[in-house]
Amino acid sequence: MIKQIVFITATIISFGILGYSLLRIYSFLKLTKNHKKGPLGKRLYKTITVAIFQTKILRRPVIGLLHALVFWGFIVILFGSVEIIIDGFTGIEKSLSSFDFIYQIISISGDVFSWIILIAVCVFFVRRVFLTVTRFEGIEMKRRSHSDANFALSLIFVLMVTLIWMNILYSAMNLEESRTLYPINALFGQFFTSLDHTILLRAYEINWWTHIGVIFLFMNILPYSKHFHVFMSIPNVFFSRIEPLGKLPNMDNITKEVKLMMDPNLAFAAPTEPVSEIERFGVKDVEDVTWKNYLDSLACTQCGRCTASCPANITGKMLSPRKIMIDLRKRMNEKAPHILKEGKNYNDNKSLLRDYITTEELWACTTCNSCAQECPVNINHPEMIVFMRRFLVMEESAAPTGLNVMFTNIENNGAPWPFSPEDRLLWANDLTTN
Ligand code: SF4
Ligand code: SF4
Repeated sequence: MIKQIVFITATIISFGILGYSLLRIYSFLKLTKNHKKGPLGKRLYKTITVAIFQTKILRRPVIGLLHALVFWGFIVILFGSVEIIIDGFTGIEKSLSSFDFIYQIISISGDVFSWIILIAVCVFFVRRVFLTVTRFEGIEMKRRSHSDANFALSLIFVLMVTLIWMNILYSAMNLEESRTLYPINALFGQFFTSLDHTILLRAYEINWWTHIGVIFLFMNILPYSKHFHVFMSIPNVFFSRIEPLGKLPNMDNITKEVKLMMDPNLAFAAPTEPVSEIERFGVKDVEDVTWKNYLDSLACTQCGRCTASCPANITGKMLSPRKIMIDLRKRMNEKAPHILKEGKNYNDNKSLLRDYITTEELWACTTCNSCAQECPVNINHPEMIVFMRRFLVMEESAAPTGLNVMFTNIENNGAPWPFSPEDRLLWANDLTTN
């Protein structure tokens, strides 16, 4: 009974803290602008192919397969964790075992995957600590980013070791039953059957408590770590762009202006909608981004595949698409709590543009979309970059000289070239036709 009371208290505290963290992020999301979602069927298809079947990750066969196995393994082991929580609440051991065949399938899969994840985590550790993987480095990858990754790997390592020991010790106490539930760990369990039952039970309980304790710790660290992608990747893929790469959303307020210019009757007609506050063109700071842009920044795994494929970055320019996502999340964490407290007019004389992301970075982008193509969680970096460029051009007229000349030509000549419309066909004067 004491065990149950302690467990229920710990669970309520853990989920309470997690709820607070998630509500905080939700309140940040509410500060952002709307985003059009597109048809449900296509989004579901994308979620199944990219998120569930991990098609993008699997393009790199070895490390991709390890990542995919860890992902699938986590889904299976999640069922085991749900059972542990139900066990803790009810005081019943293996509370879901009445689901017979399904339970057996999930237990066997969990048994196999616990070993696969343990091996994968060791490989990831060795790769991070002892090998130099270029894409894990970059100006945006501070010491904290690396320790964050190593700490999360350590927690997953402890989770798997304790889970494996739980299954081994349970097998030692219930060998026959365990052979059909934990085929791998029952093999190890048979070596411990001669130990005293009390010792086995105590050891089992130590692993049980450590395992659930690490789960509670891990789930509360996630919202403040890059590993929040564990929660955010699937929703991010679900809401990701279904239009072809390179298609950019129109600006509604500009579309409205153009329509008014094309139809003078509309321009002088009484407004049909209430006159709203004049919106800023493009993105200057976090309150100008859409909720999908912010979701992108939460889903970023910091894997660096985008930056490794970015032609601007490869040729030595300042731009790193991963940094755009890291900066957006950082700036949101810095500014959003103040906006929530002091209102939307809060101003700290800083902004995402310039204080975090420089204009040099933004103009280095070729909008090739290679970053978006490579990103395993379908993050749309070019959209953010273009939104910020829109602010520079439309609010500050701060485009590079070459672009300004082109804009002036379009305005004066109706084309990007410095020739008047009357002279456009001069090149054809000397041509003869047969
Ligand atoms: S779209 Fe821009 S940021 Fe993305 S890969 Fe191309 S150049 Fe780099
Ligand atoms: S944006 Fe995508 S590809 Fe780039 S680091 Fe984040 S998850 Fe990886």
